Amino acid sequence: LGPTITIGEILVEIMATDRGTGFLEPITLIGPYPSGAPAIFIDQCARLGGSAGIIACVGEDDFGRVNVARLRADGADVSAISTSPEFPTGSAFVRYRKDGSRDFVFNIARSAAAQIDLTAAARALIARSGHLHVMGTAFAIPGAIEIIEHAIAAIKARGGSISFDPNVRKELLGQSETRARFARLVDIADLILPSGEELFVAAGVEGEREAVHALFARNASEVALKRGANGSTVFTREGRRIDCPAFAVEEIDPTGAGDCFGGAYVACRRLGMPIEQALTYANAAGARNVTAKGPMEGAGTRAELDAFIAMTPGRST
Ligand code: ATP
Repeated sequence: LGPTITIGEILVEIMATDRGTGFLEPITLIGPYPSGAPAIFIDQCARLGGSAGIIACVGEDDFGRVNVARLRADGADVSAISTSPEFPTGSAFVRYRKDGSRDFVFNIARSAAAQIDLTAAARALIARSGHLHVMGTAFAIPGAIEIIEHAIAAIKARGGSISFDPNVRKELLGQSETRARFARLVDIADLILPSGEELFVAAGVEGEREAVHALFARNASEVALKRGANGSTVFTREGRRIDCPAFAVEEIDPTGAGDCFGGAYVACRRLGMPIEQALTYANAAGARNVTAKGPMEGAGTRAELDAFIAMTPGRST
């Protein structure tokens, strides 16, 4: 039915080399690393051989070029990435604390990412796509919301499918508009990929079983629950539950694990793999990505993930 597409922010990440608190003193930083949840998702999707494209906007600068070059090299359709002559590519500075939590300084709202527009190239990509993956991070960008609505209508009309990763920043969920958008996506998505508390926010009820059932009572036919270092579980509307233990890896940089997991799961399902196989690849993609510094540096091709799966033991719980 055509490529998997996603819509939203492309940015670079610049990260502190050491762990500590904030950015109040001069420290050593490395980067730029290509980033942005939708970009990481679509890169992993493309690396696995899934037909994949992204609608986004970058600046006329090296931060934009490094992203577009990476996505193109990995096989993604970059025809609908526009360039803003006025605004620079967005950035996120991150520093890990000793306990694993993160301090961020974001420059997205006033960057090229916010200049995303329903261009002729974006319309053309939507018109030939068969699956839309919506990332909650895109709700922070008004222009992206309009394009998502257009894509939902067009893809539904073509008989395509929709997945939703509800990774909305907590402070945004305090806004009634964001909650309404969130609820709308939960109402129409065929596949929902929540992590932690997002399941209960999406379902509006507490308790894993209850929440999953509440999602099936709406539109979803599959729910893929991400459990970080504890692996993942897929629930199906027919009542199946498929658990996948995590791979045992040393976590170097957790950013992007969920996006790689989603990119791999959607790509593999759309390539026709059964749930068990798709979930193994998704777990491997998430785990492999946390072993590398940089949000999408550990995304893997099928051969790389096969090698990773063959070499890496499961994590004993
Ligand atoms: P993020 O928002 O940081 O991208 P997320 O919360 O959406 O992540 P996670 O549950 O952290 O998603 O990670 C997605 C998947 O990646 C997990 O379900 C698991 O399969 C794999 N994964 C993540 N962290 C680890 C880890 N430390 N060890 C092994 N596998 C991991």
